[in-house]
Amino acid sequence: MTQPLHDILQKTFGFQSFRPNQEPVCHAAAEGRDVLLVMPTGSGKSLCYQLPGLARQGTTLVISPLIALMEDQVAKLESLGLAVARIHSGRERLASRQACFDYLEGKLQFLFIAPERLSVTGFPEMLAKRKPVLVAVDEAHCISQWGHDFRPDYRMIGQYLPLLRPAAVMALTATATPSVQGDIERQLGLIKPARFIQGFRRENIAVEVVEAAPSERLELLRELIADPKRRPAIIYALNRKQTESLAVDLSDLAKPAAYHAGLSTALRSSVQDDFLAGKLDVMVATIAFGMGIDKPDVRTVVHVALPGSVERYYQEIGRAGRDGAPSRAILMQSYSDRRTHDFFFEQDYPDVAILDEIFKRLKEDPISKEELLEKLRLDVDVFEKAVDRLWTYGGALVEYDQIKRGSTRWRDGYLFQCDQKSAQIEAMIQLAQNHQCRMAMLVRHFGDLSDSRSPCGICDYCAPLECEVQRFRAASVREQNQLRRIVKTLHSAGSRATGKLYADVFPTQEVPRRTFEDLLGSLARAGVVQLQDASFEKDGKEIPYRVARLVKSKPDDSELAAILMKEEVATADGSRARKKKEFPKASAALDTKLEDPASQKIEDELKAWRTAKAKERGVPPYCVLSNQTLRNVAVARPGADQDLLAIPGIGPTIARTYGTEILQIVKNGSTSADA
Ligand code: ADP
Ligand code: MG
Repeated sequence: MTQPLHDILQKTFGFQSFRPNQEPVCHAAAEGRDVLLVMPTGSGKSLCYQLPGLARQGTTLVISPLIALMEDQVAKLESLGLAVARIHSGRERLASRQACFDYLEGKLQFLFIAPERLSVTGFPEMLAKRKPVLVAVDEAHCISQWGHDFRPDYRMIGQYLPLLRPAAVMALTATATPSVQGDIERQLGLIKPARFIQGFRRENIAVEVVEAAPSERLELLRELIADPKRRPAIIYALNRKQTESLAVDLSDLAKPAAYHAGLSTALRSSVQDDFLAGKLDVMVATIAFGMGIDKPDVRTVVHVALPGSVERYYQEIGRAGRDGAPSRAILMQSYSDRRTHDFFFEQDYPDVAILDEIFKRLKEDPISKEELLEKLRLDVDVFEKAVDRLWTYGGALVEYDQIKRGSTRWRDGYLFQCDQKSAQIEAMIQLAQNHQCRMAMLVRHFGDLSDSRSPCGICDYCAPLECEVQRFRAASVREQNQLRRIVKTLHSAGSRATGKLYADVFPTQEVPRRTFEDLLGSLARAGVVQLQDASFEKDGKEIPYRVARLVKSKPDDSELAAILMKEEVATADGSRARKKKEFPKASAALDTKLEDPASQKIEDELKAWRTAKAKERGVPPYCVLSNQTLRNVAVARPGADQDLLAIPGIGPTIARTYGTEILQIVKNGSTSADA
């Protein structure tokens, strides 16, 4: 006999009611269906497997990628008086054995395991002796190479699931684009899953994208922050240095503070507490800020630089308006942001031709790096980076200053990673430069199935005149003529790819392509033209393009005269900003001790660990991790994989290879320091 779900919700979990979206998921899982669940962070996904697990009256097996996440969930369930056990590398052997006995005797309601457990000989068979009623795979995006936290261990999960059937399988994640969703279903072999991809629309956040050159952003920001109604505010800056200078620049208008991973833990937590308590009302931060922050009344989130991915952008603007009151997310960007990203990308991922060149000269017998560098005549930084990448992807074996040939397979992995990175940046640029409802675009990016994808009515596309920063002006006579020509061509041609339309209307390119895009954008905002994303496949890659279609019958002159053009803040004279960008210099003085003794202790521990690793692998320590990266980790003290990946110097590969160990060192260091 099963208890009604509502009873369990109230009696066991102590919640009054389901959150929107939770109930149908719980029903599907309680009925024994496989489920794919994609909902934003904090929306209450855990309940969606915990409650049906209890309803099905057996053991729910939970696979979770991070010890910290696991411990957190276990503690919560134990506090509700439930029978819970966990098995992961941080546990004593005896405790793990006991967990297995308890599992086999049916004493457990929940058993949490780390994914790598499944590849321990005999372990999946042990589980299969007494099948769970439900298998929950948390953070399921880790399974997909298309996702950003790919974990090889996760890829193995799918092959063991048949042993555990007929248990229902539920995959949960907060971040899965449609291609990742498909990958998760395939990898796990979900059987006719109920799909819930929902909850991404934020009704009360008005997204606004402003064209502004970097040099103009401070003035715009000051205007914005000067109004107390727009505070509390979070401002996401490009780097640490910028957070600090902006905090100073705003101090006559509000109560700002900078927040970044380079500050001492003590300072960071006091700044955070002050912000939560309302003693500070502007947080100028790097991506290091926000994990687990739940401040309900943030009115504005400003990005003064373009974020590197839509996933990250969505997460950051999501910190606005948790209380449901109207809030605004303002993104300042211009073409220079693409160049900044390109610059960092090229620095981080040298051209594959350079790697090829190096690889070609490697032999079975080690040669000295110095000698190699001399032959290649490369810039030393580029060379070091390229060697590092070759080593990461297995193309080179490095032993102190000696280097020799590795596997030829490095190339695919490297190119895949490059593609991934640049596709994420490209998607963000597209989002910023597109002329469509911003919220609808975000919802579509995540493949939200429950959403109508209708326009939000409040973003800069839907409500241009409500914009806080972006200004609009009437089209000039010249622009009206240009608009008229576009409309005329569309009228006779019907719909048309925008590239073709541009060539047709302005065959001599007397109007630059970007101006043409702005004109199209204005027509779209005015509801004259509709722009639709489309794509075609070429050489196995998806090439996106856009189609313009006339929605209104040909507008007359007065309608054209009323069309609003986006005022480019960057340059009033019409010439596009081509200012030389400035890049931050790496200036950390690494030989100084850290101010916070606990962080210093972690840094020392990390160094000792690195020495051991380097010995084990027969490589110089810097090949494991650089001093700068170790310091970044010691200062940031990441608690979870996501935090780790936010640290400069740590990419997915390092997180994958060493993540668990690094997080454990940080955790040990932090707990002993707090005690
Ligand atoms: P997610 O995994 O989606 O990021 P969690 O499952 O950790 O989110 O839940 C976030 C918070 O919401 C938790 O503190 C949880 O206790 C709370 N929560 C979940 N469901 C409900 C509910 N129906 N009513 C009240 N609080 C809830
Ligand atoms: Mg969760």
